Amino acid sequence: MTSAQNDEIRDVIIVGSGPSGYTAAIYTARANLNPLVIAGSVTAGGELMNTTDVENFPGFPEGIMGPDLMDNMQKQAERFGAEVLFDDVTEMQLDGEIKTLSLADGTVYRARAVIVSTGSAYRELGLPDEKRLSGHGVSWCATCDGFFFRDQTIAVIGGGDSAMEEALFLTKFAAKVIVVHRRSELRASKIMADRALAHEKIEFVWDSEVIGINGEDKVSGLVVKNRNSGEESTLDVTGIFVAIGNDPRVGLVKDQLELTAEGTIAVDGRSSRTSLPGVYAAGDVIDSTYRQAITAAASGCAAAQDVEHYLANIKTPAKASN
Ligand SMILES: Cc1cc2nc3c(=O)[nH]c(=O)nc-3n(C[C@H](O)[C@H](O)[C@H](O)COP(=O)(O)OP(=O)(O)OC[C@H]3O[C@@H](n4cnc5c(N)ncnc54)[C@H](O)[C@@H]3O)c2cc1C
Repeated sequence: MTSAQNDEIRDVIIVGSGPSGYTAAIYTARANLNPLVIAGSVTAGGELMNTTDVENFPGFPEGIMGPDLMDNMQKQAERFGAEVLFDDVTEMQLDGEIKTLSLADGTVYRARAVIVSTGSAYRELGLPDEKRLSGHGVSWCATCDGFFFRDQTIAVIGGGDSAMEEALFLTKFAAKVIVVHRRSELRASKIMADRALAHEKIEFVWDSEVIGINGEDKVSGLVVKNRNSGEESTLDVTGIFVAIGNDPRVGLVKDQLELTAEGTIAVDGRSSRTSLPGVYAAGDVIDSTYRQAITAAASGCAAAQDVEHYLANIKTPAKASN
């Protein structure tokens, strides 16, 4: 791939087009910072592109489809002048006053400030039907989707703290929650494990791997295989929550920015300031706790304002503060 340097030095480039990236774009565009959003190629729009109804984003009393919400956010950012490019960043040079970002098509962009809003990825089981039935019974987020499974029998896959948290949360809605775990004991902390083990609505299927998901248009069963006996069985569930981990997308920055013990980008207190001047981070890539569209959007808003202050400071240092 030949590289072409774009001569312009932008005020701000935003990497990522999920709720945090587009919110940062709306705010920086309305602050006349002429943001460039590198949206990603196949993953443009972020995680909500993989879901159906979003019922907990404020402002939509009837709910809204995930892709429609992201389309609206893109249009809102563009309305104020944000420029959106559908390509992947392959490399970033983040130290120094001018940052450089290389794209998959070979173009190199430069900016005084960068907002990293690359999100995080839920680990998948890797089954062929998992993606197809995502939003149709397969979910990675009980807070997001638990409400859709009232009085149903649902499975939670995993044995760590987050799996127990999901299972316990789901007992508020479900008739029964079946936890499927690969081992004979839980990895979760004792307090979480004890709570789940004692719960009357939670059952456990131990030493078992998920090998298939049944259902044409929506989930109708989960096929598991006992790792000791090799015996296969089908659980009659209508919902499956995959809770086997989440990886912040830090591949591009992990050698340049400080990370937290959880693997997210470390930021200074409630701000979006990373360990390098002029580099800000927002959304799920800095958040191992909340991971919701609204919290990601709020974090994008904070990053935009932090960038505004930073640019004001480097352009007229005597008058502004960071
Ligand atoms: C199936 C599912 C259903 C969900 N349902 C809900 C719900 O109902 N309500 C709710 O509030 N939350 C829900 N969530 C959670 C919500 O989607 C996330 O919290 C939110 O999308 C995080 O926003 P973000 O901007 O931080 O990252 P993301 O939305 O993950 O966006 C990351 C962005 O980074 C881009 N990117 C990554 N790497 C690169 C690169 N190298 N170059 C360029 N771009 C890059 C991607 O293209 C993408 O645009 C759901 C999540 C999932 C997986």
